[in-house]
Parts: sequence; C-alpha cells; structure tokens
Amino acid sequence: MAVIAGNWKMHMAPEEARTFFSAFEIDEMMADNEVLIFPPAISLLAAYKCENRDPRVQLGIQNVHWENSGAFTGEISAEMAASAGASYALVGHSERRQLFGETDEQVALKVAAVLRQDLIPVICVGETLEEREAGRVSEVILTQLDLALASIPDPEIRFLIAYEPVWAIGTGKTATPKDAAGAHGTLRNRLEQAIGVTAAARTEILYGGSVKPSNATELLAAQDVDGVLVGGASVNPQSFAEITRAAG
Ligand code: PEP
Repeated sequence: MAVIAGNWKMHMAPEEARTFFSAFEIDEMMADNEVLIFPPAISLLAAYKCENRDPRVQLGIQNVHWENSGAFTGEISAEMAASAGASYALVGHSERRQLFGETDEQVALKVAAVLRQDLIPVICVGETLEEREAGRVSEVILTQLDLALASIPDPEIRFLIAYEPVWAIGTGKTATPKDAAGAHGTLRNRLEQAIGVTAAARTEILYGGSVKPSNATELLAAQDVDGVLVGGASVNPQSFAEITRAAG
C-alpha cells in the first residue's frame, strides 16, 4: 500500500477543482492505495462537495493557523478546515518555511492544532541545496522531525512524514532513489527511537520533489519510501492518475 498525495499549491480555483475531479479516475486495482489531494483552502469545500470526486480521494488543507479562531486576518484554522472536509493537513511545507518564514516552533504548534481536530498531519521536512552540499542533510531533517514529534503525545496517533529536499521542489531536479532511501532510512531510525519500532514501521514516509509519471515508479520502489507528495504533476488529472498507477 502506498500514499499518493497531491499538493495543488496556489492553483485550482473551485471550478477548476470540480473539472479535475470529473476527469480523475482511480483504477480498481489501486484500491489499496491511499490518494490524497490538498487543494487551496478556497477550493476545499468545493472539492469536498463535488459529486464527481471518487470518495476514495481524501482531502487535506495545505496550511493552518495554530489557534482555533481569533483576530488573525487571512488565516484558516484546523477546526475550519475539518468542517470544510479536510481529513489531513500539510504542516511545515518548505514553501511555508522559506517564503513565509515559518519556524520549527510554529510547525510544532500547528501539528498540535491539527491533532486537536483529529486531522492527520503530514509533516514536511527537507534540506536546502546549501545544507546538502555542507553534508548536513541528517542534522537538518532530524532537527525538523524532532521538533514536530514533540507535539505528538502518543505513539498510537497517526501522522505522516514527507521528505522533500528543498532543491528538488518545483525545480525538475529529483532526488535519486538512493538519496531518497538514505534520507528516509535516517527518518525511520529516528522514528523507531521516538515512538518505537512498531509505530515507526507503520508511519508512512513520503518522498516529494519533482515527482512525475516518468520517475514515480523508481522512487516508489526505493527502500523506506511509502508514497509520494506530488506538486506540479498533481494538477493534471491524467498525470496524477498515472502516478497513482505507478504505486502498483
Ligand atoms: C510539493 O509542492 O510538495 C512538491 C513536491 O512540488 P513539485 O512536485 O512540483 O516539486
């Protein structure tokens, strides 16, 4: 079983989301895989209510504020996202960290807020090119992981990790299956220490960064890769469907 997740980023207005679901089909043989879409917040409810959406496609929110409500103009809470049909929440996506200054501490608060609403967090970690070239991949991703894990009080709680090397996001450069397996192995070891071997084994670690139909099969076959988080290639129903088929 694999998790195939699509992050639509700031694409796909409500009408485009409806058009996507009319064209997106999951093969019957794919039934064991989990398919998630993270629309922009304004399209979440339209996606949730869209009668053409295969009910096996679950929805998530791309970002939340850590408070339930309040004077935070422009923000959206996990509570609101849950009431608009989200079951999952991306937390700490590198675009949030890099472009909007989101810190590890805020990521931890957001993980806690998401769990309060019984949403499943997908915690994103990943190193920049500079950090990779300085040989700091493990240090960076483990620090990000540790700070987020501090908000998960019980090993029984389900959460997912997305390893997304920043240099591979939206750039067309993809980590090799060996690079992905190495980072995923590092994350899995830390999960084993933090939440135990059994919980660590069932925690899905997704790879993200320029995944497309042409490279999805080899990435999904890599050791410790339990799924993919797809940005650019997820807004096209045919290419995203092809990626779901690569999960076998
Ligand atoms: C992402 O947004 O999480 C992502 C991996 O984007 P892309 O597939 O476009 O690199």
